[in-house]
Amino acid sequence: MTRLLIMGPPGSGKGTQAVRIADKMAIPAISTGDIFRYNVKELTELGKEAKGYIDAGDFVPDDVTNRMVADRLNHKDVANGFLLDGYPRTQGQVEALNKIMDDKGEDLTAVLVLEVPDEEIVERLLARAETEGRSDDTAEVIQHRLDLYHQETADLIEGYVEQGIVGRVDGTGAIDDITERLLQTIYNIRARTGTLPVIKPRSGE
Ligand code: ADP
Repeated sequence: MTRLLIMGPPGSGKGTQAVRIADKMAIPAISTGDIFRYNVKELTELGKEAKGYIDAGDFVPDDVTNRMVADRLNHKDVANGFLLDGYPRTQGQVEALNKIMDDKGEDLTAVLVLEVPDEEIVERLLARAETEGRSDDTAEVIQHRLDLYHQETADLIEGYVEQGIVGRVDGTGAIDDITERLLQTIYNIRARTGTLPVIKPRSGE
């Protein structure tokens, strides 16, 4: 079982790396941002509720987000674990996730933190605005998302540091190199906390 969080400012490459790491570990990458955007596109009730917040770069309210994640973590495909991308972002979400894990009697394996300087973040997101046209990639909204990250999300990492499961990784440079750093970091945390998967001999050996 591998239960991972990937944290870091908007534009730090969480989504890109989450998919790569999750593929390697054969677990689903669960991105709250992707789920919200999908629901906005499909005009679902959840999407209608979330759209205004997303466009403004604000957090979707905790009750909505927490319910969605709790529901997602009940799907069958998380039997081997999961990688949460973009959740938790508030203290209320940390508490909700703690409760979900406690109820299941499970622990998080590792919390990966992608570090990228603010100046590079703004450059990356403005460049992405040109190609992807995300409604929240305007200069003003980017700055607001970044401010929210520093005000509400960055401090949440400390709680996980106390559990000894945080790995901070340099999120600048080549995408492949960053993936390697993340995989190595997961390995190091597992070795340190005694959660490396046990390799069993095949039957008859
Ligand atoms: P980024 O990390 O670049 O801001 P995401 O795709 O992760 O992009 O999130 C886009 C938007 O979706 C956020 O600005 C917010 O409105 C909403 N969102 C995503 N995850 C959460 C969350 N955990 N809590 C509240 N809102 C969220």
